[in-house]
Amino acid sequence: MPRSSLQSVKRISSDIFPSIYDWFFIDGAFVRWRKARVIWPLYCIGSPGAGKTTLFSLIYRYLKRHPETQNYPIADICIDREVPPHDVYFIEDFLETLYHKLSDTTVLKEDHSDDAYEEYAEMRFLLKDAPEGYRAKTRLQSLREALNSRLNALKGERAFLLLDGIDRCSPTQRLLLDNELSKLLEAGLSILITSRLAVLERVEALCEHPDDPVPQYARLSLNMYYECCICEYIVCVPCKDAKRSCPNGHEELHLHETYDHVNINIAVPDMAMKEFIAWNLEREHGDLGLGSSARKPPLSPLGRSLISNTASKSVQKHAEDVYEAAGGHIGMAKARLDLIHTMDSLEGIESRRDQLPANIITMFDAGLKRIEIQPSDQRDIALKAIAAAAADIRGVEVPVLREMLRNADIRSGEDVLECSKGFLLTSTHDTPSLRLTAFHQSFFRYISERYNQEIHRASMQINPARPRFAPREIGSPADITPQKLARSITQPVHPFIPRKDTRNWT
Ligand SMILES: [Zn+2]
Ligand SMILES: [Zn+2]
Ligand SMILES: [Zn+2]
Repeated sequence: MPRSSLQSVKRISSDIFPSIYDWFFIDGAFVRWRKARVIWPLYCIGSPGAGKTTLFSLIYRYLKRHPETQNYPIADICIDREVPPHDVYFIEDFLETLYHKLSDTTVLKEDHSDDAYEEYAEMRFLLKDAPEGYRAKTRLQSLREALNSRLNALKGERAFLLLDGIDRCSPTQRLLLDNELSKLLEAGLSILITSRLAVLERVEALCEHPDDPVPQYARLSLNMYYECCICEYIVCVPCKDAKRSCPNGHEELHLHETYDHVNINIAVPDMAMKEFIAWNLEREHGDLGLGSSARKPPLSPLGRSLISNTASKSVQKHAEDVYEAAGGHIGMAKARLDLIHTMDSLEGIESRRDQLPANIITMFDAGLKRIEIQPSDQRDIALKAIAAAAADIRGVEVPVLREMLRNADIRSGEDVLECSKGFLLTSTHDTPSLRLTAFHQSFFRYISERYNQEIHRASMQINPARPRFAPREIGSPADITPQKLARSITQPVHPFIPRKDTRNWT
């Protein structure tokens, strides 16, 4: 049998700095999702390399250890490689895996789902009375019955599903999966999904209750709220908890949560990022005076050179540079640190600042493979959209892009986001319509300074009248240096050797 693309949670590697995700576990949306049976799935959104899979493992461990959740079933499913093209088999395997994982609990007492599952297993494996096999519709039906019956047995308790790697599904598989997930939510399953893509939707909601202690002008946009189904009045969660119901006198039971998802964006807060960088440097090179909690080995050759009196730049300044270049993105911070670890001295690093480090280029090259293996239409849309986003650090407006790609069948900006696999994000930077922007400043350099042939070729196709002979301006005019202008696609990249444990993005 082929190896399934559905796997269990990965163990947490020893080189992670767990407190980098502490903020996540006190986030209001996560706490509410954990404590109450809500009807929406919680999405944890992170761009390529932002640490989704690590966070996923930490969430699993957290729920397994937390006294309020440890006895409940916590089903962990990672889609860990490209999903085979058979959509129905994928859904069937997903439901079956989930069914089995939900039995891993001590609270499952009156479970009569075995009969329904037995029926499924006979159809699927024994081909009982039907050597030609059973229809997909029939198989799925009996699986859903088994799952429903098991979730019913857990009604008075809680049951969790953690789902990672959903971006590996095709758009069709995602739609099918969403359909199953909404049935499971209704049956009481609590669902958390890590994803590269935020749901393309803008919801603006403010609490309208006159008795909310926060003055009207200071109320912030809410990601969770209740809406009165009779008069559409909006009430925030603290107001509802304090029994402040619809001010038009409609009963509390008419307050509903009307959205189908809540997002948390994965971005490492400033302090945690600084601590991580100090920890990572001292763990590798010894006590550099950065005051981290790392277990420090004796000073490495690089460590000695960093703190020597003749160093042209302090180690604090080098740490600061990594912090700036990371922009809240853990994968990018790690890549910069890995690069430092391979050097004996950082004295030469300044002169290379006009080039992207080779290990980052390698990561982007490898990451873009996911775009390139798509069917040619989607691949084309993605490459052209990325090329269009390379013209401006603020990105490209969706209507402008659709005009550029008018020969392609694009029905929503969502399609473009899906094809571009997380390398483009949406932003509302200064403009009324949504913009698609490079997911990180380093990726913007990668696409605007022609590190990638395919994207360069795509940019020639969308701008045939104006072939670009020099890189466009990025940020401010001060960013243009003579070296940068002289750089061409044929110029070899400075031969940094990527460290062997620089991880590829999955
Ligand atoms: Zn009302
Ligand atoms: Zn309120
Ligand atoms: Zn109602």
